[in-house]
Amino acid sequence: MMFIDPHAHMISRTTDDYEAMAAAGVVALIEPAFWLGQPRTYVGSYIDYLSHIVGFERFRAGQFGIRHYCTIGLNSKEANNQELAEGVMEILPRFALKEAVVAIGEIGYDEQTELEDKYFRLQLDLAKELALPVMIHTPHRDKKRGTSRSMDVCLEHGLDPAMVVVDHNNEETVREVLDRGFWAAFSIYPSTKMGNARMVEILRQYGAERIIVDSACDWGISDPLGVPKTARLALDSGVPEEHVRLACYQNALSAYGQSGQIKEDDWLNPPAIDQRTLYEGNSVLRGGREARIEEPGAQRGMDKLIIE
Ligand SMILES: [Zn+2]
Repeated sequence: MMFIDPHAHMISRTTDDYEAMAAAGVVALIEPAFWLGQPRTYVGSYIDYLSHIVGFERFRAGQFGIRHYCTIGLNSKEANNQELAEGVMEILPRFALKEAVVAIGEIGYDEQTELEDKYFRLQLDLAKELALPVMIHTPHRDKKRGTSRSMDVCLEHGLDPAMVVVDHNNEETVREVLDRGFWAAFSIYPSTKMGNARMVEILRQYGAERIIVDSACDWGISDPLGVPKTARLALDSGVPEEHVRLACYQNALSAYGQSGQIKEDDWLNPPAIDQRTLYEGNSVLRGGREARIEEPGAQRGMDKLIIE
C-alpha cells in the first residue's frame, strides 16, 4: 500500500527517518511551514527557512525516495510579533507561488489573541486570492472553541470548506468539522494529540470520507511512521482496506491536489534516485559517503505498532 504523510516537519528529522518512511510505503509528504521552537526575530530568518523547505529539503527527500511538498504561512505563535508578522506577510506571496507548494498553512490560532486573528484572516484572503487550499492548525488549549472559531472565520472570508483542511482533530472536534463540510485531519502524535488506536476507533465510527491521517512529526517526541503504523493497525483491526486507503493516501491527495501542485504521477514515475546529483552545488552525501542508488529495504521501526 502507498501512503502520504500530509503533515511532517522534516527539517527537524534525520535522513534515517526518510529511509524508514520510504521502506514503510510513504511515497510523498507535505511539510507545513511551522514554529521552530526558537522564535524567529527577523524576516530574513523566515526567508531562509521558507527557501529551505521549498528547496534543499525537497531535494533531500527526493534523494531518499520520497516526493516532498510544502505549505507556506506565518505561524500563529509568531503572529504575536507584529513587526515580524508584517515583514513575513510581504514575502509570503512569492513563496506561495513556488512549485510544489500545495496550501497556505499551517495557520490558525495558538492563544487566540487579536494579532493571531488578524494574520489568520489576512492569510485566508491570500489563499483565496491564489486559489490555494488552507491547512489549519487548531490550538492545543481550548481546542474545541478554537476549532469552531477557525471554521467560522474561514466561512466569513468566503472560503469553500472543501478547500480547507482542519488539522490536529480529536474525538471532541471531529463531528463538527465533518458536519460543516471541512476536511478533518488527525495528527498521530504521541501523548499530546492523538494515538493510533483511538484513530482506528474514529475510522470505525465515522468511516473515512474527508478524514486524513498524518504524523505531524517534528523536533518533539514524535513518530515519522505515524501514517503507515496507523494503516497497519487499522487493517489488523478489520477496518476496510478502502477506508485505510482514503484516510492514509487518497484524501490528502484529493484535498491538496486542488492546488494543481501534487499528482500521483510524481511518485509513480519519479526521477531515478542518484545521490551524485547536486543541489546548488551540494549533494546529500556527508563526509565522502558513497552514493547509493538502490531503494532501502527493511521496514525499520515498524515493530512497535501502537502510538499512544
Ligand atoms: Zn505542524
